[in-house]
Amino acid sequence: MKKSIDLTKNGQCSRCGGCCASIIPATNQEIAAAHDYAVTHGYKPALPKDANLVYLQCPYLKKHKGGTTSCAVYPARPSICRVFLCSLTPTAGIQAFLSQKGDPNATPVNLWESWGQTGIRLNGHTVTTQNAAQAHLELDDGRILDLRQGQAVRPIPHADDPMEAGMILGFTPNGIYFTNGPSGIIELKYDDLDDIRT
Ligand code: SF4
Ligand code: SF4
Repeated sequence: MKKSIDLTKNGQCSRCGGCCASIIPATNQEIAAAHDYAVTHGYKPALPKDANLVYLQCPYLKKHKGGTTSCAVYPARPSICRVFLCSLTPTAGIQAFLSQKGDPNATPVNLWESWGQTGIRLNGHTVTTQNAAQAHLELDDGRILDLRQGQAVRPIPHADDPMEAGMILGFTPNGIYFTNGPSGIIELKYDDLDDIRT
């Protein structure tokens, strides 16, 4: 079993914020609860000012001087955030999630979308969910593929290693995050890409 990257201090959360990626498993109810809490408490997330970025941090992650972080919606955070600890193995983490408050209906979501954003800014413009994130990939044979967040794809990184069809959740500078149910969230590196079939 693969071990998680352990960023704890002797098994205690160091509050580094490393696990607060923008794509986490959450239910519609949890997304609404976090959004309502933020609005009620006057918290509005903002993307960093950089002109071009793919920002995968959760909109509710607050950064403090000294490098620590905290959650702006802590009392209303999704259940995965309550049970996750990066020192656990993936299996132990999933068991903890399901056995405590984890909802099996939770699906991977980008929490920025509840603010009408994707966490992506290109050419100085914030990309909204209406102008969903897209990537242009040039394949070895010169073909250009336009991919959009939410689009169904069948990525085949290697001819002898086919992957099941999935849905694009978002883009990073290095690859594409997509989900295909049984395998959860997978990051497909652009460097490993031979072909993508839509
Ligand atoms: S659980 Fe998250 S915040 Fe805590 S140490 Fe691990 S990565 Fe950092
Ligand atoms: S809701 Fe809070 S704890 Fe959960 S990912 Fe976002 S910042 Fe982290």
